[in-house]
Amino acid sequence: MLASAGVWVAWRLGTPNYHGPAETIEAVLVDQPNPAFRPGSLAFSTLGVQSGTRIEIMYNRVRAAGPASLRPFILAHVLVHEITHVLEGVERHSDAGLMKARWDADDFRQMGTAPLKFAGEDLHLIQAWAYRAATKAVRDRSAAATVLCEAHASATSASSAPLR
Ligand SMILES: [Zn+2]
Repeated sequence: MLASAGVWVAWRLGTPNYHGPAETIEAVLVDQPNPAFRPGSLAFSTLGVQSGTRIEIMYNRVRAAGPASLRPFILAHVLVHEITHVLEGVERHSDAGLMKARWDADDFRQMGTAPLKFAGEDLHLIQAWAYRAATKAVRDRSAAATVLCEAHASATSASSAPLR
């Protein structure tokens, strides 16, 4: 999905190195037992100078968002959604596609057949990040410890519309 926007991701296990030449994003899967914590969210991202940039995916909610056969697709979309928030550096959502604020049952079904797409504005913002990264300006951004994103599942996505 990110390759369609010209972004290449190198996956690594272990402790993140925030001093390397590439944008480094830590992604962790956690179970969030508290339903009152960011209700309806599947994940969220923080940008931090001290702690680094981190994506926290509430995997128990990803599991509950659709059937097991769709789980890898949903997880991939949640990761790309959050990575895109980090790269865009702003808290915004698009009306449709990967950066939609709340995916509905149709979106989840679509994930299993073909990836959701970036909106044009997202492609522009990602290209702007690529330019900043190429000029090392990304390291200078000042959005320290700002919560950027919450990826949401529609309240009706898993409960009222069976996903197959
Ligand atoms: Zn979001």
